[in-house]
Amino acid sequence: MNAVPAPRASTASIADYRLLEPAQKYTRAFCTEEEVQIAGHIRDFVNKEIMPFRHDLEGGWHRDEKLAKETLHRLYAKLVDLGVTKTNLPEKFGGLAYSPVVRQMINEELSRADIGLATKVGKIHWIVSVMAAAGREDLLTEFAPKIVGADSWTACVAITEPAGGANIEDPALEFRTVRTIAREDGDSYVINGHKLWPGPSGYADHFKSRHLSGHLGYWTVATTDPKLGPEGAGIFYVPPDAPGLEFSNPYEKMGFSWTESNSDIWFNDVRIPKRYRIDTQPGQGAQLINGFVIGLGRLAGAARLVGLSDAVLEIVLNWSSNRIIAGTPMRERSMFAGMLGEMYRAIDMARQYYLTITWQVTKPDIYGAPWSREMKAKFSNARSFAGDTAQMVCNRAMELMGAAGYAYESHVEKYMRDYKIVQMWLGGAQRDRIDIAQGLYGPFKWAGSEF
Ligand SMILES: Cc1cc2nc3c(=O)[nH]c(=O)nc-3n(C[C@H](O)[C@H](O)[C@H](O)COP(=O)(O)OP(=O)(O)OC[C@H]3O[C@@H](n4cnc5c(N)ncnc54)[C@H](O)[C@@H]3O)c2cc1C
Repeated sequence: MNAVPAPRASTASIADYRLLEPAQKYTRAFCTEEEVQIAGHIRDFVNKEIMPFRHDLEGGWHRDEKLAKETLHRLYAKLVDLGVTKTNLPEKFGGLAYSPVVRQMINEELSRADIGLATKVGKIHWIVSVMAAAGREDLLTEFAPKIVGADSWTACVAITEPAGGANIEDPALEFRTVRTIAREDGDSYVINGHKLWPGPSGYADHFKSRHLSGHLGYWTVATTDPKLGPEGAGIFYVPPDAPGLEFSNPYEKMGFSWTESNSDIWFNDVRIPKRYRIDTQPGQGAQLINGFVIGLGRLAGAARLVGLSDAVLEIVLNWSSNRIIAGTPMRERSMFAGMLGEMYRAIDMARQYYLTITWQVTKPDIYGAPWSREMKAKFSNARSFAGDTAQMVCNRAMELMGAAGYAYESHVEKYMRDYKIVQMWLGGAQRDRIDIAQGLYGPFKWAGSEF
């Protein structure tokens, strides 16, 4: 028996909110009718197959690790089966080659259910986009069989270091603070260094189960020499069982309990073949990290934060239709109607903005490459506005619902715990603002900055 009375709220869409449905919310200027239907199909799948298991993804109230992992691997395998992990892989490698806009719509729909699970799917997109942008067809050929096959695999991009993640994500510091060093040695690179927080990370066995075949490995930001700045920076693929890799236990944290599974990674003389350096030309590594890892990572975060906010709005709309104040449903009283209207206003503005910028990514000849200051500012705009929106929406939903929102059963508390890190990772909420200023009137460096 629950100690807290179950609130009259549901994570399933019990009412017909046409403004929140794909047919209304996705703008046909950026996508086709067929692509909206794809998003609708994913939405239906999410409602039926994922929503009922949201709490199990973190092992329920008691954080049962076995239940969490079983649920995570099972639901992820279903999504792999549905094809969502291969949506940005070119067709010639067996992928679906969807447009960035439809991928973002899928990202939003998945995040309505669980932003951690959506991020797990996004890891595969992340590594594919980096290898495709570098023109590494040899590596795409190597990894494609696992990405398009029947089995499910996970992957990790390792950036953050003990001296501070935001330094690496600061374009003015030009990767001179990176302390994961890749030293050339004949036909190999030998990597030494220490990363914090990359997820999912850990010993290979941790990622093998009935539903998960394993870990693809670590796409690692490192440098041949910090003094070289952008010329030294690169992305190095490290296989999951490479000798010399060492991991801490997974961290205990506020949200994303097992969907991320973050840990320290130590690289102790880890030797990789030279072809596992993803970038091939001087300066290309810095462009890939700035544009495809950080910039597009933030833009993907914007779509996720919007999906999460939509789900919270649905919950509070449903709940406030049943909460009666002096004979009238709460949501029909002007003060509360105004709050709900403002929540929708911010969510849809955040959505239309991230869709616009995603469409602009497909026109680099007009708007600039993903690593340009201008596009980086727009990616940061999208993520920071969506992050502030999610913060406002979660906070207001809880205030509207009172104790019912604070209760575990409302699901608002889990959404509230989960949105925060998506607002902060890849440099932090303040880094977003500085990168917006960099696009507006930069480039500028902080006077006297020392590494
Ligand atoms: C659940 C989770 C998943 C994660 N997944 C990954 C992953 O997959 N891969 C990975 O590499 N990392 C990952 N991270 C780490 C994350 O990206 C970093 O936490 C983030 O980049 C900020 O770095 P930091 O925590 O070291 O903060 P710090 O660099 O110590 O900064 C602290 C705060 O100060 C501000 N700040 C500091 N310096 C600057 C600056 N120069 N400009 C502007 N603001 C500044 C920022 O607001 C920042 O939030 C994850 C973290 C979490 C919690």
